[in-house]
Amino acid sequence: MRRDILIFGQGLAGTWLAWECERAGISFVISDAGQREPSASRVAAGIVNPITGRRLVKSWRIDSLLPAARAAYRELEGALETDLWRRMRLRRIFRDDRERRIFGEKQVRGDLAPFAGEADEAGFWVEEAARVDVVALLDSAAARWKAQGHWLDGPMSLAAAEARADLVIDCRGFATTREVAWARVPWEYSRGEILELTIEGLDPDVILNRGHWLLPVGPGLAWVGATHDPGVTTATTTAEARATLSVSAAELLDGRAFEVARQFSGVRVNLPDKQPVAGRHPSTARLGVLNGLGAKGVWLAPMLARQWVNHLTAGVPFDVEVDVARFNPR
Ligand SMILES: Cc1cc2nc3c(=O)[nH]c(=O)nc-3n(C[C@H](O)[C@H](O)[C@H](O)COP(=O)(O)OP(=O)(O)OC[C@H]3O[C@@H](n4cnc5c(N)ncnc54)[C@H](O)[C@@H]3O)c2cc1C
Repeated sequence: MRRDILIFGQGLAGTWLAWECERAGISFVISDAGQREPSASRVAAGIVNPITGRRLVKSWRIDSLLPAARAAYRELEGALETDLWRRMRLRRIFRDDRERRIFGEKQVRGDLAPFAGEADEAGFWVEEAARVDVVALLDSAAARWKAQGHWLDGPMSLAAAEARADLVIDCRGFATTREVAWARVPWEYSRGEILELTIEGLDPDVILNRGHWLLPVGPGLAWVGATHDPGVTTATTTAEARATLSVSAAELLDGRAFEVARQFSGVRVNLPDKQPVAGRHPSTARLGVLNGLGAKGVWLAPMLARQWVNHLTAGVPFDVEVDVARFNPR
């Protein structure tokens, strides 16, 4: 059956877009390649950290995006009957005096409010951090839409997708960036690697962060990550990342014993201005995109999906800061 919209790819982008379509009563079908194509979402740690980087900056629009994302996940949890958004405490440990000084200055100016909590000589607590179990989200959402008949098994080509719907919204992450139609968008890449550790006695509600983060993911299991390798487009694992992350884990765990159980990786897609992209292709109106979620897919995807649906139902223009038209991809 021909549908109004084909959502091409079911990572975080496609999942949120499909949910917003369902909420708005828009007829849609999803095509996903399953495990046959790379998926950044399936390796994402799912961390929501409002204050990041060596310069301790609040993430783009986080004051409004974080509460909106939390509310959106709560609603989706109800529909999927699956716990997704888990509030965590995040302990940011200063790497050096410079970081301590930056924190002091920003704290005095109120730059980190409302997310910077209690502080001491060694670090501070980040409030409102969270973790989303992204694989649980993808699997439970896929099961819902398969059961409802909104599903086409992939992979398929863009031409095949375009033959099946009035509008194809390309949410294929890395695969989108290899498509000739989007060749003028200046895509950038960063491979990220993660180690899974076996370790006992961690506080299950605390993420540690000092350069890298350490995230408890289940009884006796934690992940440490993630590396950033700009320009690398293959989701391979390396001995260098294993060594680097093992050192970070030992520091974060203060010498506590652990073993490396697994290593995995994925490729993040970014744009040079570090904002995501959404919108219609300027010369092919029946093609759209939602991509460039970088390292922040968990909370950018709900906002971009909402913009798509506002555009489809009420003709609302895309926010100029995210509109793919800013790259003139004709
Ligand atoms: C190591 C690592 C850690 C990360 N940690 C975090 C984190 O803690 N917090 C956070 O917010 N973000 C994190 N991210 C970023 C996050 O993973 C991405 O922003 C997000 O997953 C991108 O989602 P997407 O839907 O755009 O793409 P993807 O997740 O890559 O999804 C693309 C989908 O398209 C499908 N597909 C591809 N080709 C075809 C085809 N021909 N036909 C049909 N389907 C196709 C694929 O199967 C896949 O399901 C991390 C990323 C990495 C690499």
